[in-house]
Amino acid sequence: MALKTRCPACGSTNVRVENPRDYHYGHCGLTGVHLLGMGVVITDCGACKEKTTTILQEAQLLQVLGMAIVTGKPGMTGEQLRYLRKLFEMTQGELADSLGKGRRETVAEWEAMGRKRLFKTPYEEIGLRAVLMSLFAARVLESEFCCLSSQHKAEYANAAGTFVERVSTLLAERGTSKSIEIRRQSRRADWSTAHCLTC
Ligand SMILES: [Zn+2]
Repeated sequence: MALKTRCPACGSTNVRVENPRDYHYGHCGLTGVHLLGMGVVITDCGACKEKTTTILQEAQLLQVLGMAIVTGKPGMTGEQLRYLRKLFEMTQGELADSLGKGRRETVAEWEAMGRKRLFKTPYEEIGLRAVLMSLFAARVLESEFCCLSSQHKAEYANAAGTFVERVSTLLAERGTSKSIEIRRQSRRADWSTAHCLTC
């Protein structure tokens, strides 16, 4: 054994160590977060009988989880928004201000939606997501408590760049076009808009 694991409660080395390969990370406040691999250590102490779960580098994990939400697929939920606000160490009122929503209640109502999606379509989510991405940069990446590596930062920059590109293309198309193109691919096909608004 390369490294002697000690019981976090009593310090004894008389412990049985277990690395669960798929750990359901329920106490982060989000549904459906699974920690895979070697980041979770469960010690079962032979001396004090204490069973302890340790999440390695949890501060970094919480930031990576935030990054996964802000750069992730559309369909943000109430609990994800709440998670991000807490990661950013903001009150509901402060987040409402950043979003240009004067009312703290708007954020409170969104958060109360829990596991439900905040918006029906990805398009409606763009404004919120853009603000959350810039807050992530300001309050996590540029914070003195940032635990993310240069690799993480490169991934984030890449995801943010893709997002901005997609949105600006979308806005440019919307801004300059005075016409609406609706097309039928064949005589029997349905009518559809010429380009997808959200992908
Ligand atoms: Zn112990």
